[in-house]
Amino acid sequence: MALPAAVRVNARPYLHGSEADAFVEALNQGQYGHGPITEAFEREVAAYLHVPDVVAVESGTAALHLALLAAGIGDGDEVVVPSLTFAASIQAIVAAGARPRFAEIDPDTLCLSGSSVLEALTPNTRAVMPVLYGGRAVDLAAAAPVLAERGIVVIEDAAQAFGSWHGDRKVGAHAEHGTLTCFSFGPIKNLTCGQGGAVVPRSPQEADKVRLLRMLGIGQSQADRIRSTTYGVDSFGLRYPMSALNAAIGRAQLARFDQIEVARPQLWRTYRDALAGIDGVVLVDVDIERTVPFNCVVRVPHRDQVFADLQAQGIGVGVHYPPNHLQSAFAPWHRPLPVTEQTAAEILSLPFHPEMTERDVRAVVDLLRAAVTR
Ligand SMILES: *Cc1c(COP(=O)(O)O)cnc(C)c1O
Repeated sequence: MALPAAVRVNARPYLHGSEADAFVEALNQGQYGHGPITEAFEREVAAYLHVPDVVAVESGTAALHLALLAAGIGDGDEVVVPSLTFAASIQAIVAAGARPRFAEIDPDTLCLSGSSVLEALTPNTRAVMPVLYGGRAVDLAAAAPVLAERGIVVIEDAAQAFGSWHGDRKVGAHAEHGTLTCFSFGPIKNLTCGQGGAVVPRSPQEADKVRLLRMLGIGQSQADRIRSTTYGVDSFGLRYPMSALNAAIGRAQLARFDQIEVARPQLWRTYRDALAGIDGVVLVDVDIERTVPFNCVVRVPHRDQVFADLQAQGIGVGVHYPPNHLQSAFAPWHRPLPVTEQTAAEILSLPFHPEMTERDVRAVVDLLRAAVTR
């Protein structure tokens, strides 16, 4: 029996169809850098999250880098971060001149917990970067009083969590608790701009700072700059703008995001039901009532064998992620993390994207069942 095409890839962008026209229109307007379309996207994302302001940038990695810099994190500062994340989280910390302090995860959520954060604190800790693995919000309430007392800032890597809820507000709408949130709009994220990211600043001053850092330290608007014989470079800055072309794609995606808010949780629930009762396979919970899930992750016995078996049959399984504290680039900050190492050896990401049907899910689960019992 031929495998359905949709199960051959682990993840892929989902297009509604309206993106192409929006993209061509932006292309014909001829202004490809940061521009009015980018600013419209910023306002629309802010309105969606019910926050005063959002700063759009080139990628999720750029968002993390700029959020760290805007929060004053730099040389010698330690940032508590889970090892089980995309390498981007760690590289952003290193790019800011700071040091990653790897922390354990809660094996049930694959995220930091209040107690794992408290355990990892040192006198040099200046920030904590929870990663919203799979899209679920991370609850650090147990550590919050200590973090507040010590002035430790929380910079969320919410690259996978656009659209999810934290309590009664969207992820990203918790600035008054001192949380800076970073999103990615990369190719396979819940909402894609092709490439892109955003920072949700905590104050108008912080928004200005991120905007300055994003555009080479040049404070003037693009419109003012082109009508002037000069421009002022006011501070250190990088070149991380979001292109109008990417923003145009994002605007089209956001206008139909209500469909994704339904489709992704529905797909995850379909997997949950199909996986029920398979011996040895444990679904990693994502708090589905509040989450727009980014992926569907299971724990399986003899994972490498199951992975190879499913790959050989054409199923697009993946592993997210090989732990960063074991990467050679991050060797200076290595410390033993037994829970993370055990977890990382067991996890398997199943094909997960909104084009998948119930039949696709059944095809994956049938082969998974066979692979774990082989
Ligand atoms: C995708 C991702 C990033 C990086 O975002 P880019 O837009 O690809 O730069 C960072 N952290 C996590 C957890 C991610 O999934």
